[in-house]
Parts: sequence; structure tokens; C-alpha cells
Amino acid sequence: MNILILGGGGREHALAWAVMQNPKCDKLIVAPGNAGIAQIAECATLDVEDGGAVAEFAGENAIDLVIVGPEAPLAAGVADRLREAGVLVFGPSQAAARLEASKSFTKEICDAAKAPTAGYGHFTDAEAAKAHVRTQGAPIVVKADGLAAGKGVIIAETVEEAEAAIDNMFGGAFGGAGAEVVIEEFMTGEEASYFVLVDGTDVLPIGTAQDHKRVGEGDTGPNTGGMGAYSPAPVLSDEVAQKALDEIVKPTMAEMARRGTPYQGVLYVGLMIENGQPRLVEYNVRFGDPECQVLMMRLGGQVLDLIHACAEGRLAEAKVTWADDHAMTVVMAADGYPGSYEKGTVISGLEALPEDSFTQMFHAGTAEKDGKIVATGGRVLNATARGATLAEAQARAYALVDSVDWPQGFCRRDIGWRAL
Ligand code: AMP
Repeated sequence: MNILILGGGGREHALAWAVMQNPKCDKLIVAPGNAGIAQIAECATLDVEDGGAVAEFAGENAIDLVIVGPEAPLAAGVADRLREAGVLVFGPSQAAARLEASKSFTKEICDAAKAPTAGYGHFTDAEAAKAHVRTQGAPIVVKADGLAAGKGVIIAETVEEAEAAIDNMFGGAFGGAGAEVVIEEFMTGEEASYFVLVDGTDVLPIGTAQDHKRVGEGDTGPNTGGMGAYSPAPVLSDEVAQKALDEIVKPTMAEMARRGTPYQGVLYVGLMIENGQPRLVEYNVRFGDPECQVLMMRLGGQVLDLIHACAEGRLAEAKVTWADDHAMTVVMAADGYPGSYEKGTVISGLEALPEDSFTQMFHAGTAEKDGKIVATGGRVLNATARGATLAEAQARAYALVDSVDWPQGFCRRDIGWRAL
């Protein structure tokens, strides 16, 4: 198969690495890719949010399957354009991508499917939203309805803080994403992510993970895109996972199909678990980054067969083979992240990393310049490892971190502390 992956972060490097291990992969192109991906696949320049351009590129390059990494192309309808052009694609339609692109849409689907989630109100007017907050009290959660790059959620400790967040959102802090606001009950418990493939009808679980969103050790400081992750998530026991499937995932997927907008692709199910009961926090319509890195580490080459079966609607006959192992990824970020940081700093030591089947250095924000690898983003490298235990995976991941020489970078030293 000739395969095209859209995206250029650590998630896409991990996907590319796994797909390449499958002998069915003849040729792999990643657009735009990054310096790490360029070492294993061909990288192409392409506007990945322009469905017409992606379809044309797929035609010119005899692509058999397109795998969409990030949410933006999905929300822009790239999968629809590809299907219209007769190109096989892994990723939901624009209509089904609303499960991530609109929080009020997801809440409404949950209502219809009777899926456990936080109680909520949905507002297009600041005064009504504030009145709702005053009757509910704090803590309370204020969310911009649309895509806000993970920044549109405010956990307000006081009513005043919630009111300020409402004014901020309706004042345009998140552009069009904040024209509607969802106010949610604050849920307590432990968070974990559940990943399933859905082919419109059938649902196939492919793993669980937990990530660390805060920049500082002990889960302190500002939120980030994610500083590390591990799989499996101990809190998502088989029993809790089964409940999440039966009470949340399957009913909402059936509701999507009933409405004529069946979901196809990977579904990221963000859960809050308390006393063995899962409730939905959010859906994402793509793999998480960095959760994808630990899932790929554990699944390896079979992921191409699973993705292919999903895209062709054959999940009923697909099977996941599990090794009884654990994986961890540690994000190496530029000093200053998630605030302002320097770009273009040189990273050394990447050419001499230990090469074994237990460790992989996935690249996120990197580029090659004058024969050197330089940092081009906030999150730059993902030191990823697997082992028989989580402690073993952790030791290997940090050994990988320590073999890189990048004075302007940092990482958290406590990834996995909750599980360990
Ligand atoms: P979201 O983008 O909706 O997943 O929200 C981002 C993060 O905010 C989640 O991963 C949770 O940590 C937190 N969060 C969102 N909604 C709630 C809620 N209703 N109760 C408690 N925490 C929440």
C-alpha cells in the first residue's frame, strides 16, 4: 500500500514508525512531517486543511490510504473531500468531527444516548450564563464551545472567576470558538483516556492511557499540550473500560449513526472515573499527542491492519494482539514552554541513540538545518520506551532523555508517578 499521513508532530512520527513496520506498507509519505519523520519516510509540503489539494496529491501519488493525524483537517472536511474523490481515508467526516469541534453538540448527543457525563447548560449570552453560574455555585467549569487548541476550558474555583471567564469568552478571547459557551458541573475523580476504533458500526478498543497536562512536577503549574503519558492506565480496569464501552461509547456511536452521520476513525474517549463509575469528559476525533506515542509503542506494525480494516468498515473481523507490556513517553520541551521560548536551538546526540525495539525517540517540533537538528516548537522530542513493567519503561525512557544533549530543553522527571 502507498500511504499518506497528514501531520507533523510526535503523534505522526509514532504513527509513521508503526505503519512502516508492517510489510503491507510499500511507500509512506507524511505531510508536512518533521526532521525525525524525514529519517524514515518521504516528507511533502501540502496544505493539509485544503481537502481539494490533499485529494489531488493523493491521486498524483497513487495513495491507497490517507491517515489523518490532527483534528483541524477533519473539522475542515478533508476526509469528506477524500471520500468524494474515491480515496480511502482513516478519519471522521466533518459532521462526525463535531464530537470534538463543538462541546454543546457532544453534550446533546450524550443526552440523547443517556451517556453519563457532567450536568451542563449551553449559552449564547453572557448574562444568562452568569445567572446560571450564580445558581449553581463553584467550583464550576466554563468552556468555549468550539476548537480552542486545548485552551478553552476554565476550571473556576469561585463564582467571580467563572463570571470573568464568561466575559472573557464572549469578549472574543477564543474568537469564534467562544461565541457559544458550555457551563459544566465540576467532576471529581481520576482522569484517563480510552482509545477505540469505530467503523461506523463496530467499536474496537485499542488501549488506555493517562497523560500529564501540567508543566511542573507533581502536576503543578500551567496546562500544556501534555508533558508525558503512559499506557495502560491502571484506573481503567477491564470492568471500568467495559462500562465506558456499554454506557458511553456504544450508545453515542449508535446515536451518531441514527442521525445519518456515522463515526469512522479513532475516537479518543476522555473519562473521569470515580468509585468505579466512568463519566465522559470529552471526545476527541483523533489520537492524543503524546498518548499516541505510547499506544504505537505497544501496538507496533499491526496498527496498519487495524486502521485499514477501520477505513474499509471491516472492524467486526479485526483483532488486536496484546503484549502484556507497559509504555511511557517523556516530552522534552523548550525552556519557557508553555510560555515563550527560543526557537532554533541545536539538539545533539540524536545520531547516536541506542537502537533497540524497546526505545524510540519520536520527534515533534524539530527541523534539520545545516546538517544539525534544531528545535522549532515548544514540545520538541518524545523519549518513548516499553518494558515488562511501567517502572522498566520509565527507566528506559529517562535513559533515552539523558542520552540527548540539549541545554535549552527540559522535561518533567516524574512522569508516571500516579501509577507507580
Ligand atoms: P476538555 O477540553 O473538555 O477535555 O477539558 C480539558 C480538561 O479540563 C480535562 O482534561 C479535565 O482535566 C478538565 N475538565 C473538563 N471538564 C471538566 C469537568 N466537567 N469537571 C472536571 N474537570 C473537567
